[in-house]
Amino acid sequence: MILILLGPPGAGKGTQAKRLVDRLNIPQLSTGDMLRAAAAAGTEIGRKAKAVMDAGGLVSDEIVIGIIGERIEEEDARGGFILDGFPRTVTQAESLDRLLTERGLKLDRVIELKVDEEALIARIEKRVAETVAAGGSVRADDNPASFRVRLEAYRTLTAPVSAYYAKSDRLRGVDGMAEVDAVAAQIDAALA
Ligand code: AMP
Repeated sequence: MILILLGPPGAGKGTQAKRLVDRLNIPQLSTGDMLRAAAAAGTEIGRKAKAVMDAGGLVSDEIVIGIIGERIEEEDARGGFILDGFPRTVTQAESLDRLLTERGLKLDRVIELKVDEEALIARIEKRVAETVAAGGSVRADDNPASFRVRLEAYRTLTAPVSAYYAKSDRLRGVDGMAEVDAVAAQIDAALA
């Protein structure tokens, strides 16, 4: 199965993706995780991406499409995968369609986590507080200023992606404000 989790920052895409990994036994491909790993490793792509990411902006389509194109070739992605944080622009969505078609693959579902934007800032603050309390380190872009930029990028560049998938009847919306288990149950129903 090939599926996309769509939704604004803080909507719970990562949490739901991890549950789906266990349930479907396919990998989670998070472009955010891949870019953070590249930044930590100090690669050229990582260095280019880091400043943009920390400020809350979007890394160039060319870079993320290149990363995903290579990642879906890996052995563990043969049986399908969950895309988390990609595509984030219509250009990326079009490129993904091309990448899949070239490989004889088909996108099964796009799940959109719908959330109340007002509640998102509170959710991010909670995530930061919990991480700090657990002794963990906080992402450089998990602060209110960067978060607002991320939300704005979502509204202007990523929201049109859901319209793109609605056209081909691949999109299903779920209530991302529900409890984690309830969201997971809605996703299961959307995949059935
Ligand atoms: P995430 O972990 O999905 O919240 O992504 C963190 C940051 O990585 C984003 O705010 C962007 O700067 C960058 N990023 C992740 N995925 C993409 C993408 N598909 N296109 C552009 N930038 C991305």
